[in-house]
Amino acid sequence: MPRKFIVGGNFKLNGSQSSLKTLVEGLNQGNLDSNVEIVVSPPFVYLDQVRKAVRKDVAVAGQNCYSKTSGAYTGEVAPEMLKDLGIEWVILGHSERREIFKETDEEIGIKVAHALKAGLKVMACVGEKLEEREANKTTEVVFRQLAAISKHVSDWTNVVIAYEPVWAIGTGKVATPDQAQEVHKDIRNWLKEKVSPEVAEATRIMYGGSVNGGNAATLAQENDVDGFLVGGASLKPEFVTICNAKA
Ligand code: PGA
Repeated sequence: MPRKFIVGGNFKLNGSQSSLKTLVEGLNQGNLDSNVEIVVSPPFVYLDQVRKAVRKDVAVAGQNCYSKTSGAYTGEVAPEMLKDLGIEWVILGHSERREIFKETDEEIGIKVAHALKAGLKVMACVGEKLEEREANKTTEVVFRQLAAISKHVSDWTNVVIAYEPVWAIGTGKVATPDQAQEVHKDIRNWLKEKVSPEVAEATRIMYGGSVNGGNAATLAQENDVDGFLVGGASLKPEFVTICNAKA
């Protein structure tokens, strides 16, 4: 079965009730390719607003969640709470969570397990920093991050991998189609070897890092690029162009 193209919009720490209302209206009026799965991810406090307002063929994701269901964890949000709001997806292991908030590979693995158990679908992010790429450590880093996630996943149906080289995120320096394809292929081979050929074939691998309306169509042609996780450009009208990049 061909892998369904998937595009996620990660709004990060951006938006207000009024700006997200406008953004959602734009999406609702957009001519979106029905063969593409689209997921938008506003900050927690706007999840309910966006979920209620956005067209039904667009799903909504949390940008993070905790590895506990309830308790004395001030400031955290449980995956069960996202489910309770009707949220289907969660982004986990984003490089900003890893770098700024010091989330470790192990913590991310545990979060992935808990989110899946709670019934969420997970976009699990991996990716190397510039100095790691320059030291030829891209696969070493990406495989280490993958292994920490894989350890906690028995059923891959609800997992999508997002390959997001840190040097490409928010920098305007998009990976070339060759650079993206090379790592995506390595990830697929890793899944084939460490999990199973079936999982490797079926699991979608998104690319993230400075994707925009101008570069999406070329990247989308690569065999192992099954979608995009979009930051900055997801807040702009060009997000619709990115969603339709595969068409
Ligand atoms: P960017 O962010 O598109 O702004 O580079 C991508 C991401 O962080 O998911």
